[in-house]
Amino acid sequence: MQTVSDFAGVLQVAIPSPLPQIFDYLLPANSVMAQIVPGMRVRVPFGRSQKIGVIVALANDSQFERARLKPVFELLDDTALVSAEIQSLAQWASRYYHYPLGEVLAATLPTLLRKGEAAHVSGEKVWALNAAGMAVEPNSLMRAPRQLGLLQLLQKADKPLNASALELQFENWRGIMRSLVDKGWIETQEQTTLLVPTTETDTPPPLNDAQQSACDAIGSALGGFQSLLLDGVTGSGKTEVYFSAVEKVLQKGQQALILVPEIGLTPQLLRRFQARFSVPIALLHSGLNDKARKNSWLQAKAGDAPIVIGTRSAVFTPMRNLGIILIDEEHDLSFKQQDGFRYHARDVAIRRAQQAGIPIVLGSATPSLESLHNARQGRFQHLTLPERAGNAIPPTIRLLDVCQQKLTEGFSSMMLQAIQHHLDKGQQVLLFLNRRGYAPTLICHDCGWLANCQRCDAHMILHKSRHLLRCHHCDSQRRIDSQCPDCGSVDLRPLGQGTERAAEALSERFPNNEIIRIDRDSTRRKGALQALLKQVEDGRGQILLGTQMLAKGHHLPNVTLVGILDADQGLFGLDFRSSERMGQLIIQVAGRAGRGDSRGEVLIQTHHPEHPLLNGIITHDYGRFASDLLLERSQAMLPPFRHIALLRAEASSREMPNEFLSAARDMGFQLANPAELLGPIPAGMEKRAGRYRAQLLIQADDRARLHNFLRQWLPQLGQLPLAKKVRWSIDVDAMELS
Ligand code: ADP
Ligand code: ZN
Ligand code: ZN
Repeated sequence: MQTVSDFAGVLQVAIPSPLPQIFDYLLPANSVMAQIVPGMRVRVPFGRSQKIGVIVALANDSQFERARLKPVFELLDDTALVSAEIQSLAQWASRYYHYPLGEVLAATLPTLLRKGEAAHVSGEKVWALNAAGMAVEPNSLMRAPRQLGLLQLLQKADKPLNASALELQFENWRGIMRSLVDKGWIETQEQTTLLVPTTETDTPPPLNDAQQSACDAIGSALGGFQSLLLDGVTGSGKTEVYFSAVEKVLQKGQQALILVPEIGLTPQLLRRFQARFSVPIALLHSGLNDKARKNSWLQAKAGDAPIVIGTRSAVFTPMRNLGIILIDEEHDLSFKQQDGFRYHARDVAIRRAQQAGIPIVLGSATPSLESLHNARQGRFQHLTLPERAGNAIPPTIRLLDVCQQKLTEGFSSMMLQAIQHHLDKGQQVLLFLNRRGYAPTLICHDCGWLANCQRCDAHMILHKSRHLLRCHHCDSQRRIDSQCPDCGSVDLRPLGQGTERAAEALSERFPNNEIIRIDRDSTRRKGALQALLKQVEDGRGQILLGTQMLAKGHHLPNVTLVGILDADQGLFGLDFRSSERMGQLIIQVAGRAGRGDSRGEVLIQTHHPEHPLLNGIITHDYGRFASDLLLERSQAMLPPFRHIALLRAEASSREMPNEFLSAARDMGFQLANPAELLGPIPAGMEKRAGRYRAQLLIQADDRARLHNFLRQWLPQLGQLPLAKKVRWSIDVDAMELS
């Protein structure tokens, strides 16, 4: 039996759980307080189970009786796994997003460390040719071109290749590798470095004046906190500015953290970083397996990876000596986590930079209104690259009025002619249609019945090639109806166009050209997007057709025509951010045109050619378009002029969420200094996945007031009678109100 005198102190532990408090534990039997620092992980008894928590503080005493405290089972680290810097960032994020510290800390860790694995870099499998493999005569593989391709890749490589390197360079390599292994040509090893090898090299172009002054401004900001908005039109060479900033930071012996929206969508950026810098790069994104993520994370922490490139959650990567944070495509919605711990990686990154006393650069051709507003208020330094780099000139943009025009499968004759014209010149055409699947739904031609999802207020999308109707909101699917359930008619027709249908129409119309479709369906397989982009890079006279995946900063120098098939979708969206989104999307897609030597052309099909927002966009002036939107926002008292949070609730009945939110609102009105509470109203899509959803908007004109209110109010909501019957959550700085 242990006695009280065995314990010198109390460990305060943050544990992932919906409970916001910190839990007190005693030291494990055989350790002493002096060995313990905040940031170490512990395995603790928790209720009837065990959990992994992080020590956040050491105390002499507890508000509970010692006899009621339990000792931790096990100390998992011998130094702080969560660095002091990340601890305080997590503390801040927990307060700011009103989310339990234990959950926030867990979210900063890669999965395996969260589960309690030891914090060591563990071996990763790599592949290389053995002597027999090196000696293989290429001719002997004439009949197996894929095997030959992989063999030659390995012959060229100057070191063994790991899975992610192979992934980048060879589609579906695993099966082929097995054949080579069977032939006895391969040796495998477990290697502890996971960092991507460099295969190409790249020399920087001379910077133009705008790039140079941006680089100078970033250079002089090093060593102190500053937010800089790098506002550069598409093709203006923002990447060169990032490179120069990273180079300066590396020269000082510091590390750079680069956040990107989705690495899978930006393989080119990655390749350019690899080619430019000869230092190891650690990658952190969901395409990696757990082991690789853990290794990258540990190598970033140890300072072994001078450059870290990652997606949203990489903002919490511990870095030994961080010198700068760069955020590419800062306007991208994927930086905001939309469930659970609903943080915005851009905002967390700004806080982190402030805390670390380093600059942060936010880059975009279409900055978010928040960032533009901050720049105009002087809180961010505004760096602009107003022109395309090199010889590329901006494309011409025209609206095609499709009112009363005959559309063939969604294409006006003007659009079809333009496509033909560019193809005839051997150039590439990019067509943008932000709807995947064959058609947005199925309609009965006799009675007008529409195929709706039974679990959502939404249509089922027709996926013809897979013979399915599928809901894009809840993923439920069923066979395509053969008969109308209302009138029995068999005349059911696809209604509207998705990418699958448009691709079908294009291949009929342009049988001699290759059609490359890029959307979530065509790129589901790992490496598929890279392979498709590679085809685009290598080919001529092709048509690329795709969804917003095409808007993600790809450099497609042979594309001279960009056609936007339906600009009207975004004009009348439910959400107050719809127009901002639509403008960003159109400008980003248009930005793919004419990035090489030939001038680009952009054609936009619309039923509203007089719409001021569209006209703002086609004048090439995102700044003016954004100014107009900012004016609207300030008149409507919306962000960034006001601060908002959204309380969401959902349940299996329509009434409950509404009742819960009304009670929450009334409770809020009772508090001193309440924020403005608007609602509750049903969510834009009230029913989703069989549950009814409603929301209450909380607004205040300054941030402190909003947070003071939330701090008083949220802890009380758990006492409401319906609090356990509805699922509810708070979303601070909500990005989507629908
Ligand atoms: P952005 O990210 O701003 O859209 P990129 O960084 O992809 O633009 O640059 C677009 C193209 O311009 C790239 O091919 C890049 O190599 C080239 N480029 C960048 N800076 C220069 C420069 N100063 N001179 C010539 N070409 C440049
Ligand atoms: Zn019918
Ligand atoms: Zn559904």
